[in-house]
Amino acid sequence: MGHGWEGAVLKLLRGKDFTFTVTGAERVTEHYARVDFTDGGLLAAAGTHPTMWVRVWFSRSGRPHQRAYTLVDPDPVAGTFSLEFALHPGVAGDWARSARPGDTIDATLQGTAFTVPDPLPAQLFVVGDAASLPAVNSLLDAFGPTPATLWLETQHPSDERLPVRVDPVRHELRRVPRESGGERLVEEVRSALPGLVKDPSGAYVWIACDTVTTRALAAHARPLLTAPRRQLHALGYWRP
Ligand SMILES: Cc1cc2nc3c(=O)[nH]c(=O)nc-3n(C[C@H](O)[C@H](O)[C@H](O)COP(=O)(O)OP(=O)(O)OC[C@H]3O[C@@H](n4cnc5c(N)ncnc54)[C@H](O)[C@@H]3O)c2cc1C
Repeated sequence: MGHGWEGAVLKLLRGKDFTFTVTGAERVTEHYARVDFTDGGLLAAAGTHPTMWVRVWFSRSGRPHQRAYTLVDPDPVAGTFSLEFALHPGVAGDWARSARPGDTIDATLQGTAFTVPDPLPAQLFVVGDAASLPAVNSLLDAFGPTPATLWLETQHPSDERLPVRVDPVRHELRRVPRESGGERLVEEVRSALPGLVKDPSGAYVWIACDTVTTRALAAHARPLLTAPRRQLHALGYWRP
């Protein structure tokens, strides 16, 4: 499959192309799937970092559609990783629902980057949902001993069984059902966060929900931090 004008632009930006091969697929819940891959040389060429994501090319009616997905448990020695899909109507979810061992899919690596602050912050605050859960899990892992509060917006009763990798000793998980297009989540974080931040210079805030919710949450978090450009990472993961 050609990748159209988007693929041409990514080539100009020095995007690197890889082909992944499916080795296994598991339906974690009715709305969440994990697909395992061999990496086509990706990890040896690029290394790994927390929240690392790739631009995967899905095809519908012969046309390419690029969607971002986060690497789960990348293993550079074995050359393997998984992707986890929050399932909803869409070209990516349709592909994941029917993925079988031996299937292949193209991806381009361009734009992903994340550096864990050094020294680690005293507190980590994370706001995400099923789409950003793979990134959230890698982030909690990368921030090691840092105590964290995680707000996870849920959309389905089965989200109770999402693979959230929290450690009850250092992480507090607050599940928030999605209501009014994310407004309930914004309200809960807005009212709780100011009281939770102990030191405006020692907190790190990471937000990845839908684009509208992410923008609103970032606006509330920014004034609570001494150096928001260093202490706040906010990226909309999907368009409502
Ligand atoms: C850096 C980055 C990393 C990402 N990593 C992951 C990942 O690891 N796993 C993952 O599942 N997603 C991830 N996403 C989000 C994913 O790229 C989007 O959800 C994408 O729109 C899915 O494409 P689609 O073809 O399934 O649906 P689309 O064709 O884009 O949209 C179809 C319909 O579904 C709705 N929709 C799209 N996404 C969601 C959602 N999450 N929940 C509810 N409704 C939705 C849209 O509003 C639209 O109405 C990531 C996004 C970014 C920016």
